[in-house]
Amino acid sequence: MRITELHPAADHELVLMGEEERAGYRGIIAIHNSRLGPAVGGTRLWRYASLDAALTDVLRLARGMSYKNAVAGLPMGGGKSVIMADGDAASREQLFVAHGRFVESLDGRYITAEDVGTSHRDMAIVKRETRYVAGLRDPSPVTAHGVFRALRAAARHRWGSEDLTKRTVALQGCGNVGSALARALAAAGARLVVSDVDSEAGRRCAAETGASSVAPDAIYDVPVDVFAPCALGGILDDRTIPRLRCEIVVGAANNQLAVPADADRLAARDILYVPDYVANAGGVIDGARDICGWSNARVGAAVEAIYDTTRHILHRAEAAGVTPAAAADRQAEAALQAGRA
Ligand code: NAD
Repeated sequence: MRITELHPAADHELVLMGEEERAGYRGIIAIHNSRLGPAVGGTRLWRYASLDAALTDVLRLARGMSYKNAVAGLPMGGGKSVIMADGDAASREQLFVAHGRFVESLDGRYITAEDVGTSHRDMAIVKRETRYVAGLRDPSPVTAHGVFRALRAAARHRWGSEDLTKRTVALQGCGNVGSALARALAAAGARLVVSDVDSEAGRRCAAETGASSVAPDAIYDVPVDVFAPCALGGILDDRTIPRLRCEIVVGAANNQLAVPADADRLAARDILYVPDYVANAGGVIDGARDICGWSNARVGAAVEAIYDTTRHILHRAEAAGVTPAAAADRQAEAALQAGRA
């Protein structure tokens, strides 16, 4: 494998590109910050328009992992990797064998897991080449539970009670996390409206939870208490935020805000936003089982603590007169600075 160091104009510790022609493999590993521990973050498989686009994505995602891991109190730094899917791969298996070798070459400075476009089955192939891989189980149920805890904390902050009986939730994306969250919400007495571009997934989730369903684009207009984005990132922007008719936004999707200023747009509409990386940390916390040897009890306690972390960040934001997104970033930056989660 040919490994080349890239030197982007960004504050990352190490960025490498790996190429293995025989496998049709091209990937990038970015380590953003390892002050709290080895850099941990998943592998994204994506068809990027250019090398530049892949580099921009991996740098942003690696930085996001530093912040997520720091706020979740994990002894882990932040990193990420991307595999450029350009159709020339020998086979999916060969792609992940090559990726495993690339991860192994860093000798534990970077630990990977599944992400968009990859699954725990792909990680089992990576595992053949390196032990620096977590996420050999589906983390979605744990992620969903963490989001549920964050939602309860936001309800308490906003309404003085975390009782969800008769509260209404609009849930976007009935995939692995969204459907598990929907079940938890229904069991807690909430009433649901769901949407999914995969109409079968939406129908299944609605049938299971007694939810009603709406067309994908209509989900922004439904009058509800909570909007829960559990599909893709970048969905909160200057076109969708004015349409929202909710008091709280909290969900599993990564990078929900299209641009940072969207946090101010939400605040201006008096919508309480729980930063995505605070709410959806359950999956990476689950990885601490493999990476740090944490017991089930310790992982469980850390996922429950998403409730306290959410409340703390919402209070800090209010006290400082900043958005919750800014308060979460400040907390992460302070932890990274101190070298202590
Ligand atoms: P998934 O692929 O299982 O589910 C996503 C669902 O969203 C699919 O059913 C898809 O059809 C639907 N969807 C896509 N575009 C949509 C749209 N415009 N409107 C409505 N539905 C749409 O993914 P997942 O594992 O459930 O993850 C959901 C989100 O949470 C992703 O953004 C992921 O990055 C993030 N996340 C997941 C985990 C985890 O543990 N799985 C952890 C942290 C963050």
